[in-house]
Amino acid sequence: MPADFGPAETKGQPGIGQAALFGLCPQCGQRTLFRGVVQFADGCRTCGLEFSRFNVGDGPAAFLTLAIGGLVVALALWLEVAAHPPFWVHALIWLPFTIAAVLGGLRVAKAALLAAEYRNRAGEAISGPSNGAPDPDGEGTDR
Ligand SMILES: [Zn+2]
Repeated sequence: MPADFGPAETKGQPGIGQAALFGLCPQCGQRTLFRGVVQFADGCRTCGLEFSRFNVGDGPAAFLTLAIGGLVVALALWLEVAAHPPFWVHALIWLPFTIAAVLGGLRVAKAALLAAEYRNRAGEAISGPSNGAPDPDGEGTDR
């Protein structure tokens, strides 16, 4: 399989797209990222990278649910106009479709965010507080 997913693949690390699609650990590339369907494991069983250190949260959930909701409504309207199926056909199709799309999309989105976050601060995470960040309490140091 050509590893054609992300730019700049570094030694043994999966691309962001690859990590997102398959739930790979961003550091060693093993499929250890998820413990449940959409729940991260605490850490990588292979290389020990702590996934709990990353703060991905459920940020993508609301956006994703809205986008999928819009898509499902559009598809359901199209099916209704095109084929006029009885109501139970709609229920049979769209309920499982929605659930699968939300869970699958959330899984991919969360993995992508974690992989991107891992890339962006792989060096900085060890060296403590980041340089050049604005002073949190606004007091600053005396000139
Ligand atoms: Zn790992």
